[in-house]
Amino acid sequence: MTKYLVLIAVISVVLWMVTGKARAAARRDRRQADRPAEDMVRCAHCGVFLPKAESVEARGARFCSREHERLH
Ligand SMILES: [Zn+2]
Repeated sequence: MTKYLVLIAVISVVLWMVTGKARAAARRDRRQADRPAEDMVRCAHCGVFLPKAESVEARGARFCSREHERLH
């Protein structure tokens, strides 16, 4: 009987560690997702925010599309 209690205790500790790690990882991911808009830029024409990688840069300003770059 004691053997089973030890086994249960060991399993509990292992599960606790595993889920704890998962929780920590989830927290880390969330932090990265919530990261302030350092990679976000604003369209100089319509003011919409978009990822820097998707923006169009022209004449020192950033735009959400070629269309707005042209219209600006
Ligand atoms: Zn725009």
